Amino acid sequence: MMKINPVQAKLDALKSLLRNLKPQQVPEGAQMDLRTASRYLNELAQDLEASQDQLRLAALYRVSQILGTSLDLDEVITQVMDAVIALTGAERGFLVLLESGGGEWRVHAARNFNQESLQSQETIISRTVVQTVLDQGRGVLSNDAQTDPRFSERESVVIHALRSIMCAPLLARGQLIGAIYVDNRAQAGLFSDGDLEMMNALAIQAAIAIENARLYTRTDQALARRVAELETLARLDKELNASLELDRMIRIVHQWTLQQAKADRGWVLRTDSGALDSGMAVYPDECPYLKEPLLYQAEQMGVPKGRTAGEGLRALLLFPLKYGEALIGMVVLERTESFEKSEEDFLEHLVSRAAVAIQNARLYQAVQQASEAKTSFISVVTHELRIPMTSIKGYADLLRQGVVGALNEQQLSFIDIIRNNVERMSVLVTDLSDISKVESGRLKLSCALIPLKVYLDEAVRVLRPKLEAKGQSLEIDLPSDLPQVFADYNRLIQVLSNLISNANKYTPAEGEIRLVARPEGDFVRVEVSDNGIGIPPQDQAKIFTQFFRSEHPSVRNEQGWGLGLSVARRLVEVMDGTMGFYSHEGEGSTFWFTLPTSAQEAAQ
Ligand code: ADP
Repeated sequence: MMKINPVQAKLDALKSLLRNLKPQQVPEGAQMDLRTASRYLNELAQDLEASQDQLRLAALYRVSQILGTSLDLDEVITQVMDAVIALTGAERGFLVLLESGGGEWRVHAARNFNQESLQSQETIISRTVVQTVLDQGRGVLSNDAQTDPRFSERESVVIHALRSIMCAPLLARGQLIGAIYVDNRAQAGLFSDGDLEMMNALAIQAAIAIENARLYTRTDQALARRVAELETLARLDKELNASLELDRMIRIVHQWTLQQAKADRGWVLRTDSGALDSGMAVYPDECPYLKEPLLYQAEQMGVPKGRTAGEGLRALLLFPLKYGEALIGMVVLERTESFEKSEEDFLEHLVSRAAVAIQNARLYQAVQQASEAKTSFISVVTHELRIPMTSIKGYADLLRQGVVGALNEQQLSFIDIIRNNVERMSVLVTDLSDISKVESGRLKLSCALIPLKVYLDEAVRVLRPKLEAKGQSLEIDLPSDLPQVFADYNRLIQVLSNLISNANKYTPAEGEIRLVARPEGDFVRVEVSDNGIGIPPQDQAKIFTQFFRSEHPSVRNEQGWGLGLSVARRLVEVMDGTMGFYSHEGEGSTFWFTLPTSAQEAAQ
């Protein structure tokens, strides 16, 4: 970009030369030429003025275009400074910005004519000029600060021998944000009013570009912070969701809140009673704030409560762990520096998520405790029932065998009823005991690789009389190369017997029962199908529920407790298989299960 003032200066010099020519020094014939030359010179000066204006406008336009394309604050500032220096022909240029929330200002960019950044020792500028511009909100031009009464006495002007100085305010949407300052230490009279006007115009555009870039940076930073926060919350969720163990959960919450709050100490207080003063569990250890009135205040308000660090105090942040309306605990964080609002907001989010996870873990723990209580109750009851049942059965058998004398027909039939009912009770007790063993993890399995046919033969052998009694056919379809299954011998027979027995019970006489097995990946899939009564859609969801039995009269006519399928499915699952069924009411049912074909699979 061309600086125009040196040309102007030469023109001015030429004009004064012509003016100083004495008429007698000019020959008679050249007088006319001299006047013409003088007129040309004036016209040239006017043309120059006009072209200077055009050049300024063109330069301004170019700068405004460049400024409009960048949102990078440093880049915007550098571009502004280089444009100002190039347009004014200044030696150095500075951009000062007001610090937020005060009248203080700071040099943000210092550039020289060669578009280089200046070192700090070269950045001494006239503070008086800058301050005047900031105070008045108007541009200032001094063509020789050394003699300018406004600035000549100022220390910086004197020490640094500043001569030409120009400074324009940076006004963005009516708001003063700083100033642009240019100077030349050697040359006086470098800048014109036109230059100041141009610098003012440029300053307006620069101020808007700077504000936009700042706004963008702030928005960008806020967005980046929010994204980082969301990422942190997602990571926390993932960790919390990985377990339902309450103690582990509390440890995770403690660790995360401490880390995210950059706190020196922190505690997770847990209450099961809904009040903070009774039965409080504290993690990791004794919390000195347990008896703080602040705790109760925070509890009542149900909002995070911060206390700013002050003399002898440490910053304390308290968050109630709330689940709906219920208070389930509190997170207490302590550090030396006070907490900022944005930190509080983020931690509040974090704690509210933690509260949900803790509550879930609490519920899970409660359910688990109830289930354990039920399991141990069943285990005791089944054990206690077995003893009298064995003796009832034993004495009934003795009576039947006539050990204590011959029995008449009626007495024999009564004994059979007693035996039959004891048998039913014994099935119930065995099923209940199996369930309690699976649930408490006490079920002992001894798995081995055995061909499915071995199990099947045994199950069918026992049930054959029942199938024959109802005239039902049993088709068995096993491929000869079926892989062996890895299972517990007795338990697999129990599963197969339950499915075949159900098919037998819930299929009318002369019905067909089919048993098919096929390899399926690393498993063998076994299906037991019948063309019996089927299962109505409304019953299908409850089929594996303990004690569920269909209302169908054919079901009610059969003996059963509604436990067989639920036990069978659990047994298959502990042997690492799955069980399911499909059925059409009135057409029949197919119950299927899978079992692994290798020990490795089962171990996984
Ligand atoms: P139980 O046979 O002792 O009632 P189960 O747990 O074995 O108990 O079966 C639960 C219920 O599922 C049965 O009462 C019956 O309503 C239904 N069910 C099971 N197997 C079949 C089947 N093959 N066909 C129709 N309904 C069945």
